[in-house]
Formats: sequence, structure tokens, C-alpha cells
Amino acid sequence: MIQSICVFCGSSRGKDEKYLQMAKEVGQELLKNHLRLVYGGGKVGLMGSVAETVMQQQGEVIGVIPQFLYEKEVGYEGVSELRIVQTMHQRKALMAELSDAFIVLPGGLGTLEEFFEVITWSQLHIHEKPCGILNVNGYYDLLLQFLDHSVNEQFIRAEHRAGLIVEENPKRLMERVMTEKPTMPDKATWVLSQQ
Ligand code: AMP
Repeated sequence: MIQSICVFCGSSRGKDEKYLQMAKEVGQELLKNHLRLVYGGGKVGLMGSVAETVMQQQGEVIGVIPQFLYEKEVGYEGVSELRIVQTMHQRKALMAELSDAFIVLPGGLGTLEEFFEVITWSQLHIHEKPCGILNVNGYYDLLLQFLDHSVNEQFIRAEHRAGLIVEENPKRLMERVMTEKPTMPDKATWVLSQQ
């Protein structure tokens, strides 16, 4: 059963007002579905906005932030629980451990790194938790095209690309993440069969 969702998203708010709007809608969907938010613990950008929306309506939010970023990213002290860790690796490991599913909203390099880690862990069967992309304003179109290109060039297994849940609407994304079981076949067997 899905109880906690990890949201990866920008510490920036982006150029278009739509990004901030969608971050708030994601917060509303978490509240409606009584889901706990697990996120990077910052107060800024889209990440701050999702957390603030949930906190303002008495939802549950766990922030996980390394000490050195706590000062830089203006750690959000108003969350239900703020876990301060020492390193970025500890942060990602704890966020993954505390969550039953992962979704990514628009963001920069940090967001991409975090999301790619959880999808690669999925294809290695380190976890079997759903991974979803909220493609707001076509932000991830080029990335999705690149993943398709990589499937064509036989570096990404088609089933792994297909296993990603991609939606433009937060409500639909949340429904799918809460109900779909990921079907990520093991990467290693595919690699060996190619040799
Ligand atoms: P960004 O998408 O770059 O705005 O960053 C979003 C979140 O990712 C922030 O909480 C950053 O602290 C985090 N982040 C930045 N760089 C990394 C990294 N190399 N590994 C993991 N998380 C990161």
C-alpha cells in the first residue's frame, strides 16, 4: 500500500508560473489521498511550495536534508519532521527508504540526478516502487525523446522506458502511481543476452 510519496523537484521555481501552480496541485493531491510527503527539506523553489501546501492543510511532511544544505537551501523548519543527515548519499538513501513511490516534477541537475538514481535502482531490482514523471508544460519532452532514442540505440531496455509513468496531470499521475505495480525486468539478463 502506498502511504508515503517522495517528490523530487527544483530548488528553483522556474520561468513559468505554471510550474509553481503544478507544485501546489501536487500538494493538494497528496492531501486528498492522505499521503505523506517525503522530500529534500528545503523551503525554496518548487520543493518548498509542495511542502508548504501540504503543511498549510495539516498534512504530513518529512524533509531530509544534509547539514551543509540546511543553511544554503533555507531548510524548512515548519515540516512535521526534519531529518538532518551528513551527506547527499545519506539523504537520498533515507528518502528512498522512507518512500513507497517516487515522482519527479520539473527541476534542474539535482532533481535529474535524484530521479535517475531511483529509476536505475528500479531496473536493478534494488526496489520495486513506482516511478512517475509529471511532465508540466512539456518540460520533460526532450528528455523523454532522448530516452526513446536511447531505446532505439539499444542502451535502454524498452521495458524500462515503458515502465516509467508519465502524465501531465497531477491527479492522474497520483492515481497511476498509487495503483500500478512496476514491471521493470532485470537489467542484467538483458545485458548478458546482448553479448
Ligand atoms: P535542483 O533540481 O538542482 O534545483 O535541485 C533539487 C534538489 O536536488 C535540491 O534539494 C538539491 O539539494 C538536490 N541536489 C542537488 N545536487 C544534487 C546531487 N548531486 N545529488 C543529489 N541531490 C542533489
